[in-house]
Amino acid sequence: MDLTLTDFVFDVVLGSCVTVILFAFVSRSHHARVEKRSLANRVICRLCLHAFEDTSHVKTVDCPICGATNEKGRSRRLG
Ligand SMILES: [Zn+2]
Repeated sequence: MDLTLTDFVFDVVLGSCVTVILFAFVSRSHHARVEKRSLANRVICRLCLHAFEDTSHVKTVDCPICGATNEKGRSRRLG
């Protein structure tokens, strides 16, 4: 089997294209997953609007600033 230069170049280009697409896909899904997770843990206090993260698995969490009880996963994006 003889490999011509054209075949070689084609293989390299195709290979790098696949690598780039694969990398972009992996990086994007990883980013989305991280974003989703951090968003799920984000709590914005309904009283003082202090934003904080809570990684515990409880439904309600107390604000560290004013002590108000906030429901998790209900925080709206501000702005
Ligand atoms: Zn608060």
